[in-house]
Amino acid sequence: MTFNDDAKYSGKGVRKSGRRTGLAVGGGGLGLVAIVLLSQLLGVDLSGLMGGGTDPSGQDETTALTNCLTGEDANTDVECRVGLTRDSLEDYWAEQAPAMGISYSSPIIQLFSGGVDTGCGAATSAVGPFYCPADQQIYLDTAFYDTLRTEFGATAGPLSQLYVVGHEWGHHVQNRAGTFASTDTSQAGPTSDAVRVEVQADCFAGAWLGSAAQTTDAEGTRLLEPITEAQIADALNAASAIGDDRIQEKTQGQVNPETWTHGSSEMRQRWFQAGYTNGAEACDTFAVADAEL
Ligand SMILES: [Zn+2]
Repeated sequence: MTFNDDAKYSGKGVRKSGRRTGLAVGGGGLGLVAIVLLSQLLGVDLSGLMGGGTDPSGQDETTALTNCLTGEDANTDVECRVGLTRDSLEDYWAEQAPAMGISYSSPIIQLFSGGVDTGCGAATSAVGPFYCPADQQIYLDTAFYDTLRTEFGATAGPLSQLYVVGHEWGHHVQNRAGTFASTDTSQAGPTSDAVRVEVQADCFAGAWLGSAAQTTDAEGTRLLEPITEAQIADALNAASAIGDDRIQEKTQGQVNPETWTHGSSEMRQRWFQAGYTNGAEACDTFAVADAEL
């Protein structure tokens, strides 16, 4: 178990939607930044999955997670786990982001199954979890956790599930910070801005988790039980498993660094650990020289 059984869930910021039909296509408004973000985690080519230019106001009605009340629910139900994860991320970044000079508001997390329309176009579960800068929402099909375990060998324990959400939230922090506007993510080499964006999101996830054991609910009850070394290793295993190099090894039989968009597993683990140990201030991946990335 990861969450404190007695922790209360706020019920904010997580919605569920069903499968979409009638995908809107047109406009071609999907930028390279969005493609880089959306193809993260599974490294798939999104060109066949994306509609582009979808109007976010055309979303299906969504429902809040009304069956999630406590940390005990989060320990037994994967959707409730995402809900309490969001509470913890919100607590951390609502304080941390302004301290870093970032004008901040928290994202919505949209749970879906099958397919979903987003401000970045239509997507299916095959994309894996992603963040859409255009509508500032995190999209997550919780079945991805099963994929993570069966396809990529990650043990995918509760903390690694939290890590995946923390990584996507890291992209939201970058969006609020103006990082996407100030970087060139059209290049995909191992020291490219695209890789620096990705390992910074890993570092931000680590920074949050390093602080999360101190996060409390409104009544002062800690959300998370103390994090163990074994759980950290598990989360790092997830970071490793969704590194593009591992995915390339599985799908192509060889690693081609020139097409990396996430950085190597070693790089991702090192930046996760930097954030976990030293906090979000240690996550300026754009300031370090190529050799130190
Ligand atoms: Zn990413």
